[in-house]
Amino acid sequence: MLRPAQLQDFDLQSYFGLPAVAKKLQGLRCDKCGWETIDAATLYAVGDALAGLLLESPERMAPQVLRFMRMRLDLTQQELAKKMGLSRKTINEWETKGRISPQNDLLLRTLVYTHLAESFRPRLGVLDHVRMAAPKKLAPVIVSVPRIDRAASVFG
Ligand SMILES: [Zn+2]
Repeated sequence: MLRPAQLQDFDLQSYFGLPAVAKKLQGLRCDKCGWETIDAATLYAVGDALAGLLLESPERMAPQVLRFMRMRLDLTQQELAKKMGLSRKTINEWETKGRISPQNDLLLRTLVYTHLAESFRPRLGVLDHVRMAAPKKLAPVIVSVPRIDRAASVFG
């Protein structure tokens, strides 16, 4: 049975395609097999917290980061292309090869920043606990994305 628990190192790679671990996250743990998961609202908040941290990095965004940012905006490649006045091919090239221009990097950051300002969920307090980890340090743990209907049933 899944019970509320504080998860020490929750691997976010399978959710976001990035080498990231959430520390001390409120989640759920199976008291039989130890399987850990988080509900949909927490997953969403963690994603936004991770995006906020990535926005602070001065590095030009890498392909997997560009893809992650588009997913935070909940846009398809076509939709993001239209919003930025670019072709879908250009967006696809960012997400496969990188090479986003400094101008477009800044424009995309602005779009994500605006999105975060609108959707920020302070109640979960996860901002202090999400850190990027080097890929080699990640535990090889695969977690399944929790289905929203199950999360809803757990929390009534
Ligand atoms: Zn179990």
